[in-house]
Amino acid sequence: MLPFPGERIYWLDHTEAPPEPSTAAIPRRVDVVVVGGGFTGLSCALHLARSGRTVVLFEAESIGHGASSRNGGMVGPGLHKLGITGLVSTYGETKATAILREGLLALDYLEELVRSERIDCDLALTGRFRGARTPAHYEASARECDWLAKHVGLPTHAVPKSEQRTEIGSDFYCGGTVYERDGGVNPRKLVLGLAARARDAGVAIHNNCAVTRLQPAATGTEVQTDRGTLTAGAVVLATNGYSDGRSRALNRRIVPIETGASAIGPLSPGLMAELTPKARVHGETGRVFMWYRPTPDGRSFIFGGRFGAGGMPLAKRQWAFRRAITRVFPQLHDAPFSHVWSGNIAYTTDHSPHLGHHDGVWLAGGYCGSGVTRSVYFGAKLARRILGQSDAETAFDDLPFAPITLRPLAPMGAAMLARWYQMQDARDLRKRDRQTE
Ligand SMILES: Cc1cc2nc3c(=O)[nH]c(=O)nc-3n(C[C@H](O)[C@H](O)[C@H](O)COP(=O)(O)OP(=O)(O)OC[C@H]3O[C@@H](n4cnc5c(N)ncnc54)[C@H](O)[C@@H]3O)c2cc1C
Repeated sequence: MLPFPGERIYWLDHTEAPPEPSTAAIPRRVDVVVVGGGFTGLSCALHLARSGRTVVLFEAESIGHGASSRNGGMVGPGLHKLGITGLVSTYGETKATAILREGLLALDYLEELVRSERIDCDLALTGRFRGARTPAHYEASARECDWLAKHVGLPTHAVPKSEQRTEIGSDFYCGGTVYERDGGVNPRKLVLGLAARARDAGVAIHNNCAVTRLQPAATGTEVQTDRGTLTAGAVVLATNGYSDGRSRALNRRIVPIETGASAIGPLSPGLMAELTPKARVHGETGRVFMWYRPTPDGRSFIFGGRFGAGGMPLAKRQWAFRRAITRVFPQLHDAPFSHVWSGNIAYTTDHSPHLGHHDGVWLAGGYCGSGVTRSVYFGAKLARRILGQSDAETAFDDLPFAPITLRPLAPMGAAMLARWYQMQDARDLRKRDRQTE
């Protein structure tokens, strides 16, 4: 077996980071304090500052330390985790349609922001192929395509197994569906680009400075940080999967879940073209699934999922990744891993992201692993709500977001549920293989 690299994030090695400018002293009072320097916090801070507010952003580590530099960079309207059937049965057709349309608005917003702010981040909407693991999954996905085209206006189409090789160099799936509006970005470039624009707009960014305590004060909130205390008219929590007791209002409503990612490469141009003939990003059906995509330079592949997370020894993670990858691409049996890393996503009990005002602070998060497009959009929407601007509403505003009962036990419960889902997925595959024997 080839040696496995130490833990290192692919994007950090493929993005030039400008030196961090030193920040001034912490002021005594500002309009808004933003906690967390990922997509959500930076997007919110940028919009607030452009609207004339004084904004200070505190990041416990350095900009983009959290999921915003660790993700797969896959963007799109983001189908809901409940799936269309689940969404419609939970909320009814009208609300389900509004939630899914909001995903398209989010993607339009991201595209326009990247264009108008001239953020160089390799955004390319090459489409996504989602492989169906079983014939039943294929039938259900094809029906979902029809529904999405009719109700949401989303360009999607089903690809039968007989034509699958035009989309992917694999015979593992039983056909699949193409989502034309999806694609990829270099998330590290995006987060650094947002930080640069936020600074230009006047946001004071303080790296390596955690917010340690929030307390109601006569004229707003007293914000205690590693480097001093200030008063804010409003506070935004943008800590998502990195929330803890210091960002309690968000932490008590989400479950942080560690997920893994790895990069394989460099691969030959011929092999890359075979694996993904249209340079699409990829996903698959199933309860616990793998996602994968070519890197923006077209030389490597990034794979990720709920396996190979940081808690496991490196050798075990290598084994978990290799097993999942070669099931789809036997061609990659001996291909070298160049990177392996992990990061935290934030899950919610209703499988929906949320934004709003809770426990005296503003917050946005709980993207359930699909947050690149949404977090940038939610950050801006949250800013609009704080400012009382028009066009602040979203289809997510009226979804209840109560604290999770027995929250300390939730990570263990989520791990047990994932294990149970994996067993059900394995059972589905065994059944499929028996039927095709
Ligand atoms: C491995 C992986 C792959 C993923 N792939 C995809 C994908 O392909 N497509 C997709 O749409 N989504 C993906 N996601 C999800 C996506 O990355 C996140 O939803 C998104 O980045 C969330 O951004 P955020 O700004 O809300 O949070 P983060 O980027 O996590 O930022 C939170 C920040 O808060 C800081 N912080 C925490 N506490 C404090 C404090 N007390 N004081 C100051 N700062 C604090 C943290 O240091 C952190 O930097 C993936 C996530 C992971 C982990």
